[in-house]
Amino acid sequence: MNKPFRKFKENTKLFFGGFFHLIFPNLCLSCSCELSRSEEHLCHFCFAQLTFTYFETAHEPSPLDKVFWGRVPIQKTYALLYFEQDKPSQKILHALKYQNKANLGIFMGHIIGKKLKENNFLCDIQALIPVPLHPKKEFLRGYNQSEKIAAGISKILAIPIVQKSIKKIKHTESQTKKDRFQRWENVAAIFGGTSRAIPFQHVAIVDDVVTTGSTIEALSRELLANNPELKISIISLAIAK
Ligand SMILES: [Zn+2]
Repeated sequence: MNKPFRKFKENTKLFFGGFFHLIFPNLCLSCSCELSRSEEHLCHFCFAQLTFTYFETAHEPSPLDKVFWGRVPIQKTYALLYFEQDKPSQKILHALKYQNKANLGIFMGHIIGKKLKENNFLCDIQALIPVPLHPKKEFLRGYNQSEKIAAGISKILAIPIVQKSIKKIKHTESQTKKDRFQRWENVAAIFGGTSRAIPFQHVAIVDDVVTTGSTIEALSRELLANNPELKISIISLAIAK
């Protein structure tokens, strides 16, 4: 490329970049302040307000481990954040689901991957299985947020994502107005299509937020039905407090 043309190209890029920035400024998804070049998705102030679980360094069983006790055999569990109403953690999950922020999922996945890697936590997992979304929901949202989180983790840990091994076959209604038993009934028969064997010994199911654990329980049972020797762990972006 000749020099004047390169200069022209750079200037055009600068001009349109600035113009684009004026119309779509890069804002903190929690407090809406303008982000500096060193900040991504959240400003430093809001990022510092996130309540990290530090499960990666805990020696005692975590609250997330306890969610699955007596329900389904789970090897290890990990959540990066405690979910808190009206706090940046809620803003993250909301943006991930409803504001078309697929990159935010990858960004959070990178943070999870780095925490796990630095602390040698869950270092023997061989593959990731994102919790599937119903195809209709995925179509409307444009992506599956758990898949985006898994993509970020996959990049850092250099392990594959098991794609399309499981399908969500039933569209679930909102879980919020049901008790635990009703929720279980609601999700018990929603996953299918795992007749294909999973060619790994230890996998981690990846989710955005764990509340009752019913979805993961149903998914784990479906995986174990066809892969009885499979070891399953859980990685979630957040756990409800
Ligand atoms: Zn902020």
